[in-house]
Amino acid sequence: MLSKISEFGIYIFIISILGTTIFLLNINNSFSLSPMNWTTILLLVIAIILLNHFIVLLPPKGNAMSMDSAIYLASSFVFGIELTLIVLFWSSIIFGLYQSKIVWWKHVFNFSIYSLMIIAAYHSFIYTGGTVGAIEIEQLVPYVIALLIYFALNVLLVGGYFKVLETVSLYNVIIGMVKETIPSYLSTLVLSIILGMLMTSYQNFGLILFTSVVVLLSIVFRQYFVLYDEVSKKANFDELTTLYNHSHFKEVIDDYLINKKADTLSLAFIDIDDFKKYNDYHGHVSGDELLKYFGKQLREKCEKDGWFAARYGGEEFVIILPDVKGCEASKYLNKLRKEINDSYFKGVEVLPHGCLSFSGGVVEYESDFYNSAEFIGKADQAMYRAKSEGKNAIHLYHKNDLDSSLIDYEKEVDHLEQQLRFFLYKDISTYQHSKRVFQYAVKFSNEIDLTDHEKKVLVLGALIHDIGKIEIPREIINKKTKLEEAEWEMIKQHVTWGKEIVSTDKALQHLVPLVELHHERYDGKGYPHGLKGEETPKLARILCIIDSFDAMTTERPYQSTKSFAQGIEELEKCSGTQFDPEYVPHFIEMIKRQYQIDK
Ligand code: GH3
Ligand code: MG
Ligand code: MG
Repeated sequence: MLSKISEFGIYIFIISILGTTIFLLNINNSFSLSPMNWTTILLLVIAIILLNHFIVLLPPKGNAMSMDSAIYLASSFVFGIELTLIVLFWSSIIFGLYQSKIVWWKHVFNFSIYSLMIIAAYHSFIYTGGTVGAIEIEQLVPYVIALLIYFALNVLLVGGYFKVLETVSLYNVIIGMVKETIPSYLSTLVLSIILGMLMTSYQNFGLILFTSVVVLLSIVFRQYFVLYDEVSKKANFDELTTLYNHSHFKEVIDDYLINKKADTLSLAFIDIDDFKKYNDYHGHVSGDELLKYFGKQLREKCEKDGWFAARYGGEEFVIILPDVKGCEASKYLNKLRKEINDSYFKGVEVLPHGCLSFSGGVVEYESDFYNSAEFIGKADQAMYRAKSEGKNAIHLYHKNDLDSSLIDYEKEVDHLEQQLRFFLYKDISTYQHSKRVFQYAVKFSNEIDLTDHEKKVLVLGALIHDIGKIEIPREIINKKTKLEEAEWEMIKQHVTWGKEIVSTDKALQHLVPLVELHHERYDGKGYPHGLKGEETPKLARILCIIDSFDAMTTERPYQSTKSFAQGIEELEKCSGTQFDPEYVPHFIEMIKRQYQIDK
């Protein structure tokens, strides 16, 4: 860092000394100034000050073109070097006074750069056969050479400044500058010749004319620029939700990835749950209102927390979270989901969750992602996982995510899922719970020592274990207040009803123990039979752990629950009483690893 500062200081010092010395050497003492010359100098200085103030703004934002170089060049061609340097000197003094907030050495450095450029351009003009005086078309070659030298020095000296200021290669700086400045330098050349001609033919009036045109142009361009700014802003926004739109999101995400703007980068893909149902029920106009409301919520919350939110399309949204790890982003999304669940919007009662909800996929960028499309694709894929886990959920993408479609008993899973669909209308939380317990079972079955047949029984049993709840009346199953004794007894019946339902299907006989016995406890205090320890089959004991963990860590709208860390604590506390102590540690280990809980 220190060496960078001293390198920078040395560079500024050398250029300043060089520029000032060469300036002094080129001021000819014998040069005499007539009152006519002084008038010209005064007008040129005024013109330079004006043109520096009325710079021509160019899109994209931040680009601008100052015409003062055209004046210096024209003045060297028509009046020679001495007068031009006096103009430079006085305009630099005025700038120094007028912009006194800028440190003095920057003014000296700037003055020196101009000196070097003007003097080098002038001498190359003379050297290649140019003569001071009226603009002659025969002298086109010296004019062009003078401009090229002026241009080359500008790029080199300013490029050197950025090179020592930042750790970028000089080559890249120069290439960037050349690309950006060629058109403006070409116009500088043309303008300097035009100005030279005007000054030759109309003297000071020519200069006033030129300056007026440039000032007016600058004002007009400024107005266009404001317009351009407004239009480009509009082009970045989605009108309905006032969030950024798809194309701007793509630009931003590409910018992050290509220019490596953040060390860690997480992306969330959000899709409103069952939005079609809302549209069908209340009409598209109300659907639009809901989108508007959702967009506003998202914008306000993300703006507050510093994230970038955009509407991806339809009822899909994206959030970019720079410098946030995937697991943190996932926690954030869960909080957001809960807040949205708890905020009321007209008509959301018709939705299966009874509230406005969304499913989200979160992914943390990894260097082996090929491009932004792959990054977005992974977030989308994770979002679909959240949907398949019963919606109103967040899924954090993981490389080793097991795709449930990969398990080789897909047909049986499909068959059981059909039976579960009744819950979609009667009791969405049991539907979601069953899907989540199924996902846990898929993962956990690969973590412990089970035969292929046992794995299959555990996974299918997990999916269907609560099927008996279909018999419980709606008002009891959806009751939000404390249950009466009799109601509680009825809930407990679900294991027996489940057993009866599953028993009717011969192909599902092997699932009966899981459905019937997943509420038995290791200490014999469970139901329906009060079986103790290993009297309960192994897979039912494992399912009991998974089932309980999900039940305690699942939130429902308008209700608070245990965090994963608290859930783990509870499992540990009840290991050996409620739960089989052999499997509890393995399950905890898997959850900690998967959700990066470092308790
Ligand atoms: P899921 O939970 O699986 O996401 O179900 P869904 O109903 O939300 O998803 P689906 O893809 O089946 O339907 C999305 C609907 O969103 C269909 C389309 O008519 C509606 N939609 C998309 N854009 C707009 C919009 O700008 N305004 C309105 N009112 N509806 C829109
Ligand atoms: Mg959708
Ligand atoms: Mg949707």
